Amino acid sequence: MSRFLRFRDRICRTPWCDAPVRHSDHVESAEEGGPTTVANTQGLCETCNHGKQARGWTARPDPGHPARTTGVETTTPTGHRFTSTAPPARKPVWVEVEPGVWDLIA
Ligand SMILES: [Zn+2]
Repeated sequence: MSRFLRFRDRICRTPWCDAPVRHSDHVESAEEGGPTTVANTQGLCETCNHGKQARGWTARPDPGHPARTTGVETTTPTGHRFTSTAPPARKPVWVEVEPGVWDLIA
């Protein structure tokens, strides 16, 4: 699933950040009962993933968003809400990194 998220999201899902995805993250944490499903996961950069753990930040899947399986609503400590979705789908590109070992270019 982590590999899929890096391919799907490519850049950090925080709306104002365009860093490459480094962490696969639960939108609603597993500790709080969030399931490990594609709809409850997102790709984030390291900074945003750690930052969303800070007090006052919340994130939840946005089932009301047209992109039902990729919509994420993030709320900041000031109460501002932002919604992000995965970028449009693209054709996968595989490269052989060594004989018999293939990797997906994300
Ligand atoms: Zn980020």
